[in-house]
Amino acid sequence: MAKAVVSVRGLSKSYVMGDQTVHALRNVDCDIYEGDFVAIMGPSGSGKSTFMNLIGCLDRQTAGEIQLDGQLIAKMNDNQLATIRNKYIGFVFQNFNLLPRTSALKNVELPLMYAGVKDRTEMSKKALEKVGLGSRMDHKPSELSGGQQQRVAIARAIVNNPVLILGDEPTGNLDSVTSEEIISVFQDLNRHGKTVIIVTHEEEIAHHCKRIIRFRDGRILKDEIIENPIDALEVLKKLPRPDDEIETEPAPVAQFKL
Ligand code: ADP
Ligand code: MG
Repeated sequence: MAKAVVSVRGLSKSYVMGDQTVHALRNVDCDIYEGDFVAIMGPSGSGKSTFMNLIGCLDRQTAGEIQLDGQLIAKMNDNQLATIRNKYIGFVFQNFNLLPRTSALKNVELPLMYAGVKDRTEMSKKALEKVGLGSRMDHKPSELSGGQQQRVAIARAIVNNPVLILGDEPTGNLDSVTSEEIISVFQDLNRHGKTVIIVTHEEEIAHHCKRIIRFRDGRILKDEIIENPIDALEVLKKLPRPDDEIETEPAPVAQFKL
């Protein structure tokens, strides 16, 4: 039996808005196992982000229990929660959430800085190489395409070597070819043992995952195994490479001093 990385029991989250209560999650039970690659789907407002934020220790539940890697997180204080988050979880967001005036390398180093790691540069370089951005470490986000920025965000998410990678609509702002490339990065990480959970609106993207969990009105409507997930690399092989991914020769060094 595979180990449960995330184990959720009776999980509920309500928001009180004046005299109204919004039930964002209602009594959700679910286990996500080591090596899983899960797509969370469902209409807007069905509780997907709430679920991700709760298992990512970014928010607190109203009722129920969450275990991460066997540790019960409900009774932890904010500091303990932040430590768990740093140690176990890497986040990737729809809008990349990178520091704009900071190089790719420094962006990736940030979580290591928070964790008090000394040898940050080497680890960050390795993470950027893993996502295929080894040659663009000194670029600022504005000097990178959307897909490249999302690769930086993924490098930042994996640099701490987390058990779990969470992506809330990580391909939501990307065109279809770039989405396919980003999914291939997640598939690669998953093949190397990472547990990955992403929220997506697109069936096509979801069918690259091993399992689809569908939410409706704060409840799990359906939880299905995908027998033959689409291999993003196979899809990409059949597609022309977009211009911004073609490596250009380095600019020639100036011959004359002015
Ligand atoms: P999804 O990600 O599936 O679109 P969310 O988890 O963001 O859905 O939201 C679920 C429900 O909870 C929605 O009705 C939403 O309006 C409500 N909700 C989410 N966050 C808040 C909040 N901070 N305050 C009040 N209501 C919220
Ligand atoms: Mg959402």
